[in-house]
Amino acid sequence: MTRLIILSSLILTVLVGAGVATAQAPAASPVSISYDFQWIRQGSVGIVRVTGTGLADVRAVFQERVHPFYWDGRAFVGLIAADMEQDVGSYPLQVWVRYQDGSSERIDRTIEVNYGEFGRADVVLPASLMPLLDPQVEEDEMARLDTFFRRFTPERYWAEDGFVVPSANPQIGPFGTWRLYNGTVWRRHTGLDIRMPIGTPVTAAGSGRVVLATMLSIRGGYVLIDHGWGIYSGYAHLSELLVVPGQWVRQGDVIALSGMNGRSAGAHLHWEMVVGGTWVNPEQVVSLGLGAQP
Ligand SMILES: [Zn+2]
Repeated sequence: MTRLIILSSLILTVLVGAGVATAQAPAASPVSISYDFQWIRQGSVGIVRVTGTGLADVRAVFQERVHPFYWDGRAFVGLIAADMEQDVGSYPLQVWVRYQDGSSERIDRTIEVNYGEFGRADVVLPASLMPLLDPQVEEDEMARLDTFFRRFTPERYWAEDGFVVPSANPQIGPFGTWRLYNGTVWRRHTGLDIRMPIGTPVTAAGSGRVVLATMLSIRGGYVLIDHGWGIYSGYAHLSELLVVPGQWVRQGDVIALSGMNGRSAGAHLHWEMVVGGTWVNPEQVVSLGLGAQP
């Protein structure tokens, strides 16, 4: 996607933010780092917390993406997202800690990324929708969405109730699936599909601010919510949009009516989430219990 752009901005940040940098962590590091995971699945998120005295700022680099950390009143919290497209294996995590006295240090660790256990599925599209498999159409739509995903809002917009799956209806298409369209074109599934008759009210998975409510080629009627801390949720194939960009929504608010426009073979809600600039399994984000106080 925009890995190169993000990487170059990272290098700039590191250079500017380094101050009186010490390249390696001192023997007795004043910070404490905790991880809520042993390893991370492809397309999933792990939480890293950094505590200590005199901390000014924390950020991490993982899979060539910068993950800013956010102060939650007790710790600097990082949501480390593993890209679903990256191979299983070991990846360096570099945590950069900047202190109030201007000094900084880098703490290195290796993170294991495990199989996302993604399936594959055959999808049959009507011939009239085949142009929506054009890579250029895909690229243009991603470029538009990426302009949002590259912005990490430092405020936390979601409330104590965190995130929920927006509907109890049956799920008919898992996240991350390799999909073969009409036996010819492979695409990855960036979200998960929920069965939903046309015109069903669609609710926000978490509180936040609407940043996009428009028609897209592939996603059709689309609402994108910025939840802060680099978390976004998107709702696709909508028949009617009931919110506008800039509008604040609470978890459970009706934001749209479901539909089947865009690159859709039937009536359903496509629900997707981005954390730290990459697609992640929305259900896994829900399972993190982000709303609950530690
Ligand atoms: Zn979908």
